[in-house]
Amino acid sequence: MTSSLPHLLSRRHFCLCCLGGAAFAAGNGWLTPRQAFAEARGIVSLIKDSAATSPIVTHKLRNNISVFEGSGGNIAVLNGGDGKVLIDAGIGVSRPQITRALAELGAEPVTHLVNTHWHFDHADGNEWLHSAGAKIIAQKNTRKHLSEIQRVEDWDYNFLPLQSGGIPGEVFAVEHGLKLNGLSIGLKYYGPAHTDSDISATFAEANIVHVGDTYWNGIYPFIDYSTGGSIDGMIAASDANLAATTNDTVIIPGHGRPVSNKAELKEFRDMLVAIRENVAKLKKQGRSRDETVAAKPTAAFDAKWGQFVIDPGYFTRLVYEGV
Ligand SMILES: [Zn+2]
Repeated sequence: MTSSLPHLLSRRHFCLCCLGGAAFAAGNGWLTPRQAFAEARGIVSLIKDSAATSPIVTHKLRNNISVFEGSGGNIAVLNGGDGKVLIDAGIGVSRPQITRALAELGAEPVTHLVNTHWHFDHADGNEWLHSAGAKIIAQKNTRKHLSEIQRVEDWDYNFLPLQSGGIPGEVFAVEHGLKLNGLSIGLKYYGPAHTDSDISATFAEANIVHVGDTYWNGIYPFIDYSTGGSIDGMIAASDANLAATTNDTVIIPGHGRPVSNKAELKEFRDMLVAIRENVAKLKKQGRSRDETVAAKPTAAFDAKWGQFVIDPGYFTRLVYEGV
């Protein structure tokens, strides 16, 4: 374990998506699968320990919509007389802090929870939120992944299924609409992107959208090839996000600074496209993965995007896998 990890944990709030990068950093080199597995086991505990003590920071947006930062992925909350609607659940051990943050928004119970995708740092809180009264809605692949032992190859790690209460009770394939607290909430499947289960959640009248882990604001993203993610899927999702938003849209990313906009999203998309081209060119020349990393195809972007646990080398490997 490097000494920088607790710092990273506190600075950006840890997530499943960062496990691989942390395992890499922890070994000062690319770990063998068995080493990564051992490291990852320790890091899962670290994530939970960190989430257990991290405060929840509430960012108020508009139309009674807020964002909670501090438990895995960014959580959107719509409050109103129909009950609270959450987009993503965070990590289960954050329950006391999330309960307090929810109470500060009003006494209404949580009635609905939407998962943007299956990852632990977005769905681990499903069980307690369901027991508190939330109906859980997701894309059908999220239910599939949360119902089975799920292997993430990059970490040689097996995630256990959630207990039945945490499994989404209502799923859809492509689109699903809700009308709650006077707002239309549109859920839309991206197709394979960061995983094969990603959806956006759009609060139409408020012009606010939670785009899940298709967008990491200001940091290189993780891409989960084990469950259908790819660099090209990430770029396609970014193009869809740009097409669906205006300069006034508040965009909530899965990770990174939780209140974003179209200009920042465009910069993220252009970074993905540029690095994809650089890596594809090197791979076409016949360079191995390690030779491609050594050629530093992300160099022009590292100062801005490479300061988190998905470091330049790790992100290069993720892109290499998909071109
Ligand atoms: Zn994720």
